[in-house]
Amino acid sequence: MSKIYYAGQDVDAPCGRCGGETRHQILTVTNGVPEQLICGNCRSVHKFRAARPAPEPRTPRIPTAAKAGGARPGSLTSQFQQLLVQEQGGALARRYAVSERWEEGAWMDHPSFGLGRVQRRLGRKVDVLFKDGLKTLVSA
Ligand SMILES: [Zn+2]
Repeated sequence: MSKIYYAGQDVDAPCGRCGGETRHQILTVTNGVPEQLICGNCRSVHKFRAARPAPEPRTPRIPTAAKAGGARPGSLTSQFQQLLVQEQGGALARRYAVSERWEEGAWMDHPSFGLGRVQRRLGRKVDVLFKDGLKTLVSA
């Protein structure tokens, strides 16, 4: 891994709508890899693609059991489930929007990732715990 990405960062990436490489802002980062970008030119939101277009690998997901450890108590997944029940996150969640300000402990309903809880706020970025794990999103 040679490059470090963070939410809110400007990157040059190919945009399908614009038909070329344009300036994008990273909206979400998962494990240091950009997931969603917003095109600075046409404002469309799309998934991150590497600068050199390549067909998306269709590798099947590794079954949880095959991974070392799996979903054990104390994992992010069980931590999420616990918080969801304790804090009734589903009832509190607000719809995610980049323009909204997200404070620690807030619950959001994200169009791609589902319910999530803001674990940490750092400047204009928030670490949000989803059922799939921790993701970094842009916040107002
Ligand atoms: Zn575009």
